[in-house]
Amino acid sequence: MTDEDKQRGLSTRAIHGHSSRDAYGSPYTPIYNTTTFGFDATADLLDVMDGRKRGGLYTRYGLNPTIFALEETLAGLESAEAAWVFCSGMAALSALFLTHGRHGIACIGDAYGGTLELLEQQLPQLGLRTHCLLGSEAGQLDALLDDGVRLVFLETPTNPTLDIADIRALAAKAHAHGALLAIDNTFASPVNQRPLELGADVVMHSATKYLGGHSDLTAGVLMGSKALLEPVWNWRKNLGSMPAPETAALLSRSLRTLEVRVRQHNAGAQAVAEAMQCHPRIARVYYPGLPGFPGHELAAAQMHGFGGMLSIDVKGSGADATAVADRLRLIRLAPSLGGVESLVTQPCTTTHHGQTADERARRGISDSMLRLSIGLEDPSDLIADLDQALHT
Ligand SMILES: *Cc1c(COP(=O)(O)O)cnc(C)c1O
Repeated sequence: MTDEDKQRGLSTRAIHGHSSRDAYGSPYTPIYNTTTFGFDATADLLDVMDGRKRGGLYTRYGLNPTIFALEETLAGLESAEAAWVFCSGMAALSALFLTHGRHGIACIGDAYGGTLELLEQQLPQLGLRTHCLLGSEAGQLDALLDDGVRLVFLETPTNPTLDIADIRALAAKAHAHGALLAIDNTFASPVNQRPLELGADVVMHSATKYLGGHSDLTAGVLMGSKALLEPVWNWRKNLGSMPAPETAALLSRSLRTLEVRVRQHNAGAQAVAEAMQCHPRIARVYYPGLPGFPGHELAAAQMHGFGGMLSIDVKGSGADATAVADRLRLIRLAPSLGGVESLVTQPCTTTHHGQTADERARRGISDSMLRLSIGLEDPSDLIADLDQALHT
């Protein structure tokens, strides 16, 4: 990203943040639907292979112009030197942990189910030392850092309780011990939060969510300095976790509307959160944009918007909340987020189903909690749908 790019707003970077110019004048890099690229001479091939010249070579390596254009744009959105794309969020995280987690990984607070499974079950099989702390146990981080852990990882806001962690403070703590701070920024999106600007070292996104935004693609991305991303490249190449050029082009197209979409997600979620806060059948609303919410002040300080995700505790039992979820008509029951359509999940029957009720309670997740991903529908229609589902 040039200095001129850094002065520009997020939408401008999303639309003009790639340097390639198409020979036929197309405003965007077309889909190079090819696996391999030809050369006139071996010397030209070696220039690309050894990184002296940028060009297509082999798509699994990431050496494909459609992938370059996407990565340049993504890097610009997080003010990063570099971005590598992957075929899923989990592929991005796996490559990050295998590259930078060899001296131990500390995960703080609740994290995506697949991430916790990878950290608690798969990576230890390879001899990696992993520690998953609840948000309330974050005080143990100092001892882990003293003990040599060199990668701190977390999500903020968290799923599904929307807890907010102080990125600046955690970056300072990690750096004081020579450790790195990596943030899964999926819930916030770069529109609402840019962790690298707050001192984090690596940012990861499941691009399947807000970056893609239409529930029609699966992809992931890591962003950071060239020095930190460089060693990830060979892992991605040899784990073979490159997205197809078609997916890369679809994601590039989605990014052009990222800022307008996320602003609307924010506005919709704020309206729904405020309506739910006054609803007689709702016991509690979890949304960082509500002034009474515990993480509100911190979120206001480090975020640019409060996001499209919120959770509600329905008054009554887990079965009562299930009945509400089943009565929703516009808001679909589905386990993802960040798309144009609103979705609902009940953590105790989906993301946290494998845990005991006690374990969920320790994480602050009640059985009567519903998590909402607010889409781009008219907020009044979403509130009306919730009203009819809550009316017994
Ligand atoms: C969905 C998600 C992931 C995993 O991403 P995939 O693209 O499904 O592999 C990781 N972290 C968070 C916060 C997510 O929501």
